[in-house]
Amino acid sequence: MARNITLYDTTLRDGTQGEQVNLSAEDKMRIARKLDEFGVPYIEGGWPGSNPKDARFFEMARRSRFRCARITAFGSTRRPATRPEDDENLRALLDTETETVTVFGKTWDLQASEILGVSLAENSAMIEDSVAYLKRRDREVIFDAEHFFDGYKRNPGYAMETLTAAVNGGADAVVLCDTNGGTLPEEMETILKRVVPSLRVRAGIHCHNDCGLALANSLAAVRSGVTLVQGTINGYGERCGNLDLVTLIGNLELKMGFRCVPPERLKHLTELSRYVSEVANVPPLKHRPFVGKSAFTHKGGVHVSAILKNPSAYEHVPPERVGNRRRVLVSDLSGKSNIEYKSRELGIPLGANGYDSRKIVREIKRLEDEGYQFDAAEGSLALLLRKVTGQFRDPFVLESFRLTTEKNQTGPSTSQATIKISVGEEEEITAAEGDGPVNALDRALRKALTKFFPQIEEMALVDFRVRVIDGSEATAAKVRVQIDSRDAREIWTTIGVSENIIEASWQALVDSVQYKLLKPETQGETGRNPRSL
Ligand SMILES: [Zn+2]
Repeated sequence: MARNITLYDTTLRDGTQGEQVNLSAEDKMRIARKLDEFGVPYIEGGWPGSNPKDARFFEMARRSRFRCARITAFGSTRRPATRPEDDENLRALLDTETETVTVFGKTWDLQASEILGVSLAENSAMIEDSVAYLKRRDREVIFDAEHFFDGYKRNPGYAMETLTAAVNGGADAVVLCDTNGGTLPEEMETILKRVVPSLRVRAGIHCHNDCGLALANSLAAVRSGVTLVQGTINGYGERCGNLDLVTLIGNLELKMGFRCVPPERLKHLTELSRYVSEVANVPPLKHRPFVGKSAFTHKGGVHVSAILKNPSAYEHVPPERVGNRRRVLVSDLSGKSNIEYKSRELGIPLGANGYDSRKIVREIKRLEDEGYQFDAAEGSLALLLRKVTGQFRDPFVLESFRLTTEKNQTGPSTSQATIKISVGEEEEITAAEGDGPVNALDRALRKALTKFFPQIEEMALVDFRVRVIDGSEATAAKVRVQIDSRDAREIWTTIGVSENIIEASWQALVDSVQYKLLKPETQGETGRNPRSL
């Protein structure tokens, strides 16, 4: 039988102490719902005594129903020389009406006497009284032993005394915190193997990542008998962050034979990680283990030809287990196998003798030498594959365009574009204005094409990036333009490279339109909600 590990998420409390992370009360509710749906049993909602936003979150959480998760409130033990019933912090915790309350207290003698300025006896009394008071009010109480490992290393007797105080007060679980994140896995294991068996209650762990060891330490703790693990989604948290629960879940479930999420939920792990990134407005890390966009992405030709034979050649687990997917990139590092994999994915048939693939590899190497980058521009790559294999027919021909940009003393600059294209025998001339030259050109081109290809109206330009690249000649700095476009079905990226920014933009723009026009399903696709992307 696999041993069960209980997850305790603190994204909404410790995670929000991360530099980039700011969550409104509504954002916190959205994340709490997602965690509940995923099957996380404990969700720490915040510190109700510390700010009005957290108080509002608990107000909303109280009125909501969660499927399986318990929302917990976090706060400190009573202040020195105060009765628990008179303590505002404990009052705020009770006011949240959560079934579970987590209180933290000092376990390091230095912290108690120097930072808090109380006697060691009073510090222990603060822990025991506070826990006992909350227990009398029928709460499940989790005690977070702050700085436990630093405390234990300096004064093990006193550190253990604080845990005893929490247990005597009636704590249901004691969580040992590596608050400064400075403990090494072997120290952790040595200490926990002594501490965990001597506790009469459940033991938990809370690790920070200051040495990049939060995961190693948490796994060491699990090996030492700890059954409750605290962490945050994507490892958000103060300084270098907290334990990343996402990576922990992958390791416990797929590598170590522990159970920590309900069956069938593991394949939503990638979705969970990206959802929290999205709500927190922190770009997802491509290299995040298990769930990152690059976690199962293959670029080197040798690797790709091997995974075509057997994916386990370069993948430690199948990506579907965690809801991720395998990607193959095509670049100047590619071999024939990447091209063959990609052409199958894009539905562009290649000749059987390998002649086409070799021709494509040569062309990609030549273009990448000029500054193109096809691993990040799959729209342009699809067109390139068609062009090189003679499967491309230009839907329209540019006859000419003219651009002017004006600026006067007071107003912002404006641009006008005039464009002449032909489709078959027919010519079309249109003009349009825009905030800038690329915008004007984009509008004029669409206006001209809509008459022939009404599906152009379904597509929109969503992002435009320009980057100066180091060319081989120092005098001629080239720019690389990347455009993201979308319709109701997908987002595609196209690329242009030139010494002239307008020329580079034009190339990317034309590729973007041609890609749309050559999509097989493009006919009759109207009125879909672009949000469904
Ligand atoms: Zn922490």
